[in-house]
Amino acid sequence: MASIDIENVSKIYPGSTARSVADIALNIKDGEFIVLVGPSGCGKSTLLRMVAGLEDISEGEIRIGTRRVNEVEPAHRDIAMVFQNYALYPHMSVRDNMAYGLKNRAVPRPEIEARVAEAARMLELGPYLDRKPRALSGGQRQRVAMGRAIVRQPAAFLFDEPLSNLDAKLRVSMRTEIRRLQKRLGTTSIYVTHDQLEAMTLADRLVVLNAGRIEQIGTPLEIYHRP
Ligand code: ADP
Ligand code: ADP
Repeated sequence: MASIDIENVSKIYPGSTARSVADIALNIKDGEFIVLVGPSGCGKSTLLRMVAGLEDISEGEIRIGTRRVNEVEPAHRDIAMVFQNYALYPHMSVRDNMAYGLKNRAVPRPEIEARVAEAARMLELGPYLDRKPRALSGGQRQRVAMGRAIVRQPAAFLFDEPLSNLDAKLRVSMRTEIRRLQKRLGTTSIYVTHDQLEAMTLADRLVVLNAGRIEQIGTPLEIYHRP
């Protein structure tokens, strides 16, 4: 686990003059679950992708624990990301999809098997371990994507609208499931969504962005129940 420090970070895309992310400062505590909300185009994914090291930082710096993200090789970054489109390998079984990131990191085989079994139990994926992703429902695929993140035991989870491809009913149950996992694992998380209920259910603190800047920051109660 780790804190995440975002220090006066801006993003100016090449060819653009505007700041897509403008001077954001945010200290995320070890184990805290932060939800980024705000209208489309406000800079949520850009900020998340900079934390993930997938996007260059134009100004400022981001540290996960004590290490600056852009100083760490992509393969050694201690974060796991969960995407909206699942990003599973279609030719691999559920088991292999979950194990893949660990094999790459030279985790011993018995340890890999133990972690995959534990994640499958948590996510109720046991019966599906030998299936390919195409033989799963949308909700099951998203569980596999989460399993793949969990087995890494990363310092932080980054979620990019992970539930927005699911139907409304499934979103409700997955939301509850993520909340339960968060209570159990206590991993520092940044979660991007435009769903208010997701934001309220999951967030320790909500960060409302507008035009690249922090407009409001507080607990769900402070943000949504102000008289
Ligand atoms: P959100 O995730 O809140 O919808 P984004 O971070 O995707 O917002 O986008 C923030 C702003 O940056 C938008 O104005 C968007 O058009 C712009 N933007 C995003 N990605 C790029 C890119 N690759 N090149 C240029 N502009 C971009
Ligand atoms: P999101 O809101 O989830 O970021 P978008 O549909 O805004 O989704 O963006 C999808 C992709 O297009 C992202 O990779 C984003 O970086 C890129 N993108 C968004 N806006 C622009 C833009 N103005 N110019 C170039 N690429 C962009």
